Amino acid sequence: ALRALLNQYSDAAANAPSSNGKAQEVSEAQLKEALAEHRLVAYLQPQISCQDRSVKGFEALVRWHDKDGSIITPDRFVGVAERSGLIAELTQQVFASAIRWFADHLGNTDYTLSLNTSASSFADTTFPSELTTLCIKHRLAPHRVKLEITETSTAENPSGALELLTQLRVKGFALAIDDFGVGYSSLEQLVRQPFSELKIDKNFIIPLAKSEEAAKIVDALIALAQALKLTITAEGVEDERSLEILAKAGCDYAQGFYIGRPMAPEKLLDWLKEYRQSQPM
Ligand code: C2E
Ligand code: MG
Ligand code: MG
Ligand code: MG
Repeated sequence: ALRALLNQYSDAAANAPSSNGKAQEVSEAQLKEALAEHRLVAYLQPQISCQDRSVKGFEALVRWHDKDGSIITPDRFVGVAERSGLIAELTQQVFASAIRWFADHLGNTDYTLSLNTSASSFADTTFPSELTTLCIKHRLAPHRVKLEITETSTAENPSGALELLTQLRVKGFALAIDDFGVGYSSLEQLVRQPFSELKIDKNFIIPLAKSEEAAKIVDALIALAQALKLTITAEGVEDERSLEILAKAGCDYAQGFYIGRPMAPEKLLDWLKEYRQSQPM
């Protein structure tokens, strides 16, 4: 029955109009130009503890600041980058800018920084050492950096991924399986790869407050993560009620528009100050 529910949700997720229907992708040439002009910026979205609501860390989410002042979201260019081979350059720029800003401004806290990876990073055997070099350069301890990996990227080449992920774990990085529940071989990748954390996909979290079915799935996913001794983050928390349900269900961390939207780094310190002031001591 759970499998049927999960399938139903997977289909819904695949077909959901993510924001306003199918995104209009940019051209490869446009992306090349944006990379050359360093127009891609790592925005940061807060993650809090469900239990005491203290800030836990931030996820870096890439945004493109276009020449006309508009902001282009990743659904319009991450796929293009992956298919055109520009993804390595994109990853390099996003990781470097996120790590630099984070180390400079929040280096002396114990917040974590989550970074999204692509399948291609797992074909690149220099990835673990390059990431380590970047962290050393900016004096950021690897245990404060979490790599978010989708199950599809490990499913493509499971043995290669296993070797690379093991190296990353040995170097001290945390590894989160992203968008858990919407791929196909979730459970297999989950037990096979050395993940330390599971992120429940937002398609299960957004309807949480209104759907008993979603609540049951979330309970089951939390039980699964606990059985496997994985930390759990819920993405897509859009209301107070969902945060309460997650806390009660034993979820560790939460992320979503209700808590904070992805924001430009220069806005983050003000957000932090305000958030801390709004919390009961
Ligand atoms: P993701 O890693 O699963 O990131 C979570 C997405 O959910 C983000 O979309 C975030 O803005 C959105 N989100 C967070 N809270 C809520 C909420 O309460 N409600 C709703 N409706 N949405 C919420 P975004 O920033 O558009 O990113 C989309 C995807 O693009 C990411 O999904 C990730 O797979 C990819 N991506 C983003 N940045 C990077 C990057 O630097 N590198 C790579 N390779 N992929 C990236
Ligand atoms: Mg992510
Ligand atoms: Mg996700
Ligand atoms: Mg996602």
